[in-house]
Amino acid sequence: MAKPVLLTVDDDREVLRAIERDLRRKYGSDYRVLRAGSGQEALDIVRELKIRNNSIAMFLIDQRMPGISGVEFLSQAITFFPDAKRVLLTAYADTDAAIAAINEAGINHYLLKPWDPPEENLYPVLDELLEDWQAAFPPQFEGIRVLGNRWSPASHNIKDFLARNHVPYQWLDIETADTEVRSLIELLDDEETRNLPVVILPNGVRLRQPSLADLAEHAGLKTRATEAFYDLAIVGGGPAGLAAAVYGASEGLRTVMIEREAPGGQAGMSSRIENYLGFPSGLTGADLARRAVVQARRFGVEIISAEATEVRIDGPYRFLKLANGEELSCHALLVATGVQWRKLDAPGVERLTGAGIYYGAAMTEAMSTKDEDVYVVGGANSAGQAAMHFSRYAKRVVILVRGSSLASSMSQYLINQLKATPNIQIEFNTSVVEAHGENHLEAISIHCSVTNEITKVPANSLFIMIGAAPNTDWLANIVERDERGFIYSGPQLTRDGKRPNGWKLDRDPGLLETNVPGIFVVGDVRHGSVKRVASGVGEGSVAISFVHQYLSKVV
Ligand SMILES: Cc1cc2nc3c(=O)[nH]c(=O)nc-3n(C[C@H](O)[C@H](O)[C@H](O)COP(=O)(O)OP(=O)(O)OC[C@H]3O[C@@H](n4cnc5c(N)ncnc54)[C@H](O)[C@@H]3O)c2cc1C
Repeated sequence: MAKPVLLTVDDDREVLRAIERDLRRKYGSDYRVLRAGSGQEALDIVRELKIRNNSIAMFLIDQRMPGISGVEFLSQAITFFPDAKRVLLTAYADTDAAIAAINEAGINHYLLKPWDPPEENLYPVLDELLEDWQAAFPPQFEGIRVLGNRWSPASHNIKDFLARNHVPYQWLDIETADTEVRSLIELLDDEETRNLPVVILPNGVRLRQPSLADLAEHAGLKTRATEAFYDLAIVGGGPAGLAAAVYGASEGLRTVMIEREAPGGQAGMSSRIENYLGFPSGLTGADLARRAVVQARRFGVEIISAEATEVRIDGPYRFLKLANGEELSCHALLVATGVQWRKLDAPGVERLTGAGIYYGAAMTEAMSTKDEDVYVVGGANSAGQAAMHFSRYAKRVVILVRGSSLASSMSQYLINQLKATPNIQIEFNTSVVEAHGENHLEAISIHCSVTNEITKVPANSLFIMIGAAPNTDWLANIVERDERGFIYSGPQLTRDGKRPNGWKLDRDPGLLETNVPGIFVVGDVRHGSVKRVASGVGEGSVAISFVHQYLSKVV
């Protein structure tokens, strides 16, 4: 943790050196002692410390300085650090002015120069003030801070990315009246205030509307491969990819896993997975992802935060191109890219996505829905889990279901939980036909298929979970896919007793192998897969034995 600062300001160099020396001698192990030769220089230091979220425990200020006087400096500085203790250094002749300043700038104490010996005239006073400060002051947050507007899609994406990658961050909403946030906004330049969100790194560096790739780089995530070649490269870090990574690396394969958003995939967004073997009271998707990542790293899996955009085949080598321009090669490639949410096609929805409308459960937004009405669209388990989660914060959660029952789309245990939760309401035969709002969602129009009526209701939060589709266009010229983009594997590729086009080996494609030898597919992205965490994990683990078989023959 960064040490709190003692800031001393005096235009007399000798006095400044002397006070700095005495402060360091007694307090140097617990505090950082900084000095400034003028009020202006000191204000620059104060601003920088505020941006870095460091704390100032005490100001020790000379009253008589050219330009900005001690009291003038303090009245500005305490707007940034209102809890810092304030000590004025005065000459004997200035005693009256110092006493007057006690009222003006809330001075805690004034000290007469010189203060020798410090053991008698300086330390006892400062000890008492610092003890007071320590007792009242909460430790400052030291990680990344995100300053933005709740309704901005860019803010949402940044918060979501950091949360899902388990990077601690503090969210500062510019619309709150919080004085801490207000004083931070004052420190931004015009360009930054016009281009929120701004991400403030612990070292004070500010990123204006950073891309996720930029953010990944600055947040300390690995964005580039350390090797040029791997035995096994896995694209996608959901349950299927993570399981393959753990099994692959634990069985001695040099393994790299490439994930464009955050390890955990869809499962990482689940507020509570209750049907995964071995966790009788369920676990959050974030917890499952965190545990799996630790396990994968322990076996030496290299996890890269990047998007795979292209595959190239050259003899026994499979080359993978990443969006950041990097290329890596491998012998075996495993595609575990899962599925992404299907978009709701209704006027206003695209424009307000990220500004009150979210795909998936968007758990980072849960706190903001406190005491509001929340609408969830969808009738599958994901919608049920999200509704249960939001019911803990929101005043009321309304689930809009297109069909007339949940029985065929949602697990019975979830249906029971929804029915037993008083602030959850299920509206059957309904769909959202329009979203309204200037800068953020303000209302939605709901169509009822029984009465054929459209009702407009006020709404600030709409979470859409209406099924999902694979995103495999980047593999279109490489592997065989069905009309919706799911990838064929194993026996699905043998038609009328014939092996796939271009297949030259004297064996059939392995169970989880695509039409290209050495390229495997697992999890939700696989044609015909069961869309569950356990089946993804099962396929990811089993695939490794096919990878081994393949590698034993590859030259
Ligand atoms: C909210 C929610 C709740 C759920 N609850 C349950 C439950 O309780 N029980 C249950 O069994 N199942 C549940 N499911 C379903 C389950 O999560 C999925 O079946 C499972 O996550 C599929 O795993 P996967 O690894 O195949 O794919 P995914 O989880 O979809 O992971 C794929 C990953 O690949 C990444 N990716 C995609 N393309 C690229 C690329 N080009 N480059 C790099 N990375 C890429 C994605 O970012 C993603 O992280 C739930 C799903 C959701 C959305």
